[in-house]
Amino acid sequence: MTRSSRLLCALYLATSTGLAWTAVLELRYGPLWAAAAFAGAGTVPVIAVVRELDLAEQRRAAVRPPHAPVATGAADALVRAELDAACCERWWTSLGADHDAGCARRVPRSSAA
Ligand SMILES: [Zn+2]
Repeated sequence: MTRSSRLLCALYLATSTGLAWTAVLELRYGPLWAAAAFAGAGTVPVIAVVRELDLAEQRRAAVRPPHAPVATGAADALVRAELDAACCERWWTSLGADHDAGCARRVPRSSAA
């Protein structure tokens, strides 16, 4: 969950608390329909918190494929960065000396110096 998501959840919960308190005040001193309206409105921010938690879970699942081990150490992060920077399979197996025929970074031999 990102920092902005946590801030949003805090704002949602504060709004819900304020609406619930207003519903209690309306129940004691105001018309019953207003208390019901504020109580109903107070559930909407709670739904927003649930949705924000669901979005955070979806973001986590999109970043990490299912059943993939979680990289924890600095060595894992280094390997992950190297694998992400790899161009194509031939580039990887030739230690960066050559590219696949269909690779966009391949320089034709006729134009090589
Ligand atoms: Zn390549």
